[in-house]
Amino acid sequence: MDYRKIIDKYLQLQGHKALQLRAVLFDMDGVLFNSMPYHAEAWSQVMSDAGYTFSKEDVYMNEGRTGADTINTASIAQFGHPSTPEEIDRLCKAKCDIFATYPPTPRMEGALELVLKVKELGLTPMIVTGSGTPTLLNKIESNFPGLFNTSHIVTSFNVKRGKPYPDPYLLALEKGNLTPDQAIVVENAPLGVEAAVAAGLFTIAANTGPLKESVLAEAGANLIFPSIQALCDEWERIYQSTK
Ligand code: MG
Repeated sequence: MDYRKIIDKYLQLQGHKALQLRAVLFDMDGVLFNSMPYHAEAWSQVMSDAGYTFSKEDVYMNEGRTGADTINTASIAQFGHPSTPEEIDRLCKAKCDIFATYPPTPRMEGALELVLKVKELGLTPMIVTGSGTPTLLNKIESNFPGLFNTSHIVTSFNVKRGKPYPDPYLLALEKGNLTPDQAIVVENAPLGVEAAVAAGLFTIAANTGPLKESVLAEAGANLIFPSIQALCDEWERIYQSTK
C-alpha cells in the first residue's frame, strides 16, 4: 500500500501542505476495547423488547450515535415520530443494566501496543467516543494506565450532537489545541468515520466488526485495515509516510 500517495490525495483535497502530526484521536468501542459484541447483544435485546425491529447489524450500523439518538433514529424510521424522553431514559437504563451483567470488556488486541507507539513518538493520544458510561474514565485508566489525559477525552457528556456530526471531533481538536492537519483518527464504525471526515480529518478505519469493508470506504475512510493489530503492525510505515 502506497500510504504517501493516499496522504497526498487527502492533503490536496483539504488544501493542506502537509500532515504535521501532533495527536491521534482514537474512537473507543471497537477500537480500544472489544466491546461491540456486548453492545450489539444488549441494544438488540432492549430494542426488541420495546417493540422495535433492531438486529445486531443495526447496532453496528448505528455505532457512534449517542443512546438517545440511536433510539430516536429507530423510532422515526419505524413509527414516524421521535421517541419520548421517558422511553429514552427507560431504554438507556435497561441497556446499561444488561451491559453491567456482562464480564468486563477486554482491550482490543493490538490497541495497547498502538497507543504506546503513538506516545513514544511524542504524539498525544486522545479519545473521542459516543459512549457516556459513568465508569468510562476508570475503565480507560485501568486498561491504558497513564496514557490518556482526562482533558483529552471527549464523551457523549461533552457534546449536544454526537457522531455522525463532526462535533465530537471538532471539540477534540479544540481541547487539544489542534488544527485538522495536526491529527489523524482511528475509527471502526461507518458513522464514526463520517464524523471524522466531516471534521476534515485524515481517517483510518479498522474493520473490527461484522460489516462489509465497503461500508467504511463509502463513509469516506482514507485507509482501511482488517483489525487494530494489522494497523499497529503498519503504524511505523504510515507515520513515516506523513513526514
Ligand atoms: Mg467505535
